[in-house]
Amino acid sequence: MQVASLDTIDSLADGLSSYLGKDQVNNVRRAYFYAEQAHDGQFRRSGDAYVTHPLAVASILSDMHMDHQSLMAAMLHDVIEDTGITKTAIKSQFGNTVADLVDGVSKLNKITFSSRAEAQAENFQKMAMAMAKDLRVILVKIADRLHNMRTLDVLAPDKRRRIARETLDIYAPIANRLGMNNVRVEFEELGFAALYPMRSNRISAAVKSIRGNRKEIVSQIQTSLEACLEREGLPGRTIGREKHLYSIYEKMRSKRKSFSEIMDVYAFRIIVDRVDTCYRVLGAVHSLYKPVPGRFKDYIAIPKANGYQSLHTTLFGMHGVPIEIQIRTEEMEAMVNNGVASHWLYKSSDDLPSNAHIRAREWVNGLLEMQKHAGNSLEFIENVKIDLFPDEIYVFTPKGQIFELPAGSTAVDFAFAIHTDVGNSCVACRISRRLAPLSEPLQSGQTVEIITAPGTQPNPAWLSFVVTGKARSNIRHYLKNQKHSESVALGKRLLNKALAGFGTRIESVSNENFDAVLQQTNLKSVDQLLEEIGLGNRMSYMIAQRLAAQGNVAAANEQSETDQHGTLAIRGSEGMVMNYAKCCHPIPGDPIVGHISSGRGMVIHADDCNNITDIRDNPEKCVAVTWDPDVEGEFSVELRVELENQRGIIATLATTITGAEANIEKISTVERDARFSIVNLSLNVKNRVHLARVMKRVRLIKPVSRVTRVKSRKVKKTIKSTLGTH
Ligand code: MN
Repeated sequence: MQVASLDTIDSLADGLSSYLGKDQVNNVRRAYFYAEQAHDGQFRRSGDAYVTHPLAVASILSDMHMDHQSLMAAMLHDVIEDTGITKTAIKSQFGNTVADLVDGVSKLNKITFSSRAEAQAENFQKMAMAMAKDLRVILVKIADRLHNMRTLDVLAPDKRRRIARETLDIYAPIANRLGMNNVRVEFEELGFAALYPMRSNRISAAVKSIRGNRKEIVSQIQTSLEACLEREGLPGRTIGREKHLYSIYEKMRSKRKSFSEIMDVYAFRIIVDRVDTCYRVLGAVHSLYKPVPGRFKDYIAIPKANGYQSLHTTLFGMHGVPIEIQIRTEEMEAMVNNGVASHWLYKSSDDLPSNAHIRAREWVNGLLEMQKHAGNSLEFIENVKIDLFPDEIYVFTPKGQIFELPAGSTAVDFAFAIHTDVGNSCVACRISRRLAPLSEPLQSGQTVEIITAPGTQPNPAWLSFVVTGKARSNIRHYLKNQKHSESVALGKRLLNKALAGFGTRIESVSNENFDAVLQQTNLKSVDQLLEEIGLGNRMSYMIAQRLAAQGNVAAANEQSETDQHGTLAIRGSEGMVMNYAKCCHPIPGDPIVGHISSGRGMVIHADDCNNITDIRDNPEKCVAVTWDPDVEGEFSVELRVELENQRGIIATLATTITGAEANIEKISTVERDARFSIVNLSLNVKNRVHLARVMKRVRLIKPVSRVTRVKSRKVKKTIKSTLGTH
C-alpha cells in the first residue's frame, strides 16, 4: 500500500474529514495528544519522537477508511505497554470500546516470537481469540506491523531478521486470509528483503536486466489486447503485471523452476465495468489467442476462501509465448486489494457487513471451533497452517451443492465438511459415480457421494491422508473419546479378574475402600483409575491387592466373568487398547497370554512367543487370557511358501488365498535360485481352522513344495522398548 506521507496530526485530520464526522475527527485528535503526552521523552530507534509511530499507524488505517475507534486505538496502541498507563485510565478517557481495542493490541504485542513451534502456536491462538472478540484488533496490529516493517532498517540485524521471519510466517498469511492483498504483498517484499537480502538483490537485478527485452513484447501484447477489446466494443483497462520478487523466489523454490521459466510468462490484468463484461472479454481474448486447455478458472462464480473473485485464463500468444490473463470488475479489484478492510473502505449506507467481512468472521469462528477440539497448541497450529495456505478445489454433492476444499483433500475431508456425523460414519464413497478408495485425492469438478453406515467409527488410518483441519481435529477428538471408553471397559475387566483372586469383585468393594485407594494413587475418580489400568499405566493386580488390603472385603459369592477360570476372555472387539503382537501373530485357537504395556493397553502374545518367556509368569506384567468362544474380527498371520518358479505362480497363489476368503496384506518374494523361490505372505484370517483351510489349499498348488506358518520371529529391539527392562 503506497501511503502519502502524513507528517502531522493536522494533515491526518484533514484527510479524515473526508469520511468521518467532526466529533469523530476531534476524538482522534484527542487520542493523538494523549499519546503524545504519554510517550513524551521516548524516541524511536530512528531518532524520531515516539508518537510519530502511532501517528503513522493511524494514517495507514485512515487509508483503509477505518472508523474513528480503530484510529484512536492506533494512536494509543503502545501506551499501556510502554508508559504504564492502565486500561482503566484509557477507558475513563476514551470509553470501553477503544480501551478494549488497545488492550487487545497490547496483548498481541506481548507475544514474543521464538522459533519454537509451540510458541508460534500460542501466537496464533492469541490472534484468533483477539480477532474473535473484535476484528479491528488485528487490523490495528497489521497496520502497526506494516509501519514497523517499513522502518526496519534502523534495527540491529538479528532483530530485523526475527521480525521479518515472523512477518512472513504469520502476518503475511493472515493478511492473505483476510483478503488484504496489497498488505500481503508489501509484507512479503519487505520481509524477503530483510530476511534474505542477497537473494532479494540478485532476483531484483535479474528482473531489471531482462525488463528491457520484455518491454517490447509486453507492449506488443498489450496493444493487441486493447485493439481486440476496442473492436468488440468492450470498455476496460489493460494492465501489464510484473511478478513481485518474493513470489518469483517462492515459485523458483517450491516449483523448482528456473528464473527464466518463470519470467517467460507474460501476465496481464483486464479490469472492466460489469460482471457480464468479464465473460465477454474472456470470449474475445480466447478468439484472439488460443487458450491453454485446463487453465481456465472461474473464481467469479466460485470465489476463493478469502473472497477473491476473478476469471483466470492462459493463452498461447504469438510465437507460443504464454500469456496469463486475469479479468475482473473494478469492484472485485478493490476487494482483491483491500479484502476485509473494504468493509470500512466502501461502507454502504445500509451498513450491512460486506462479503469479505462475513467470510473473515466464518474463518475466525472455524478457528475457535478447531481450538476447542485440539488437544494442545501444536495440534491446533497444524490445523491452522493448512487453513492459511490454501489451494482450493471445488467438488459437488450429488445434489449439486458446491464444497470448497484445500487441494489434496479426500472423500473423508469432504464428508467432514458436509457434517461431523457424516464424517464419523462414512465407510465408502463414489467419485463421479465410480466407487473409489476414501483416501483418493479429489479433483475440482468431481461429484462426490459419501456412503455411510450406522454404528461405524472413524478409522485412525484416516489421519495419514486427510488434509483439512476440520477432519483431522474431529477424527482425533473422536479417537480420544473412544480410547477413553475402551480403556475404562478393559480396565474394569482386568480389575475384576484381579479381584477374583482375592475372592471379590468391583461391585462388592465399598466406597471407602475405593476412596482410600484413590487417595493413595492420587487419582480423581474410579473411572480414571479404571482408565489407568486399561491403558497399562497401573497394574490391576496391585490395585486389587490394595483394595482387598483395606480389609472389610465382603466375601463375594457372585460369579464374575473371570473368576471361574481366572482368565480374561478376548472378544476381538476391545478396540484400540487391545493389540496383537507383531512378533508372533496370535490368532484365535492359539494359546495366548496378555502383556500389559504402559500407555498402550494390552498386547496379546502367543503363549510360546520367545519375547514373552522371561516375564510370562510375572503377575504384574502379564495376565492369563483366553479367546472368547465368540471372538470376532480378522487376525494377521504370516506364511512362508517355498515353491518352484513358474510363470504366473504369484497370481495363482493370490487367487487361491483370496478364494479361501483370506485377505492378503503383503506379498514379498525372496529368490533362492533360478528354480526355487520363497514367498512371504501376510494375510488376515478368522482363526486356526480358517488358517488350516487356507494352508491346505495352498499346498495343493502344484509348484508349491512347502507351506509353514512363521511364528515368534525375534524382534528383540522393538519388544525391549515396549516391555521396559527392569
Ligand atoms: Mn507499535
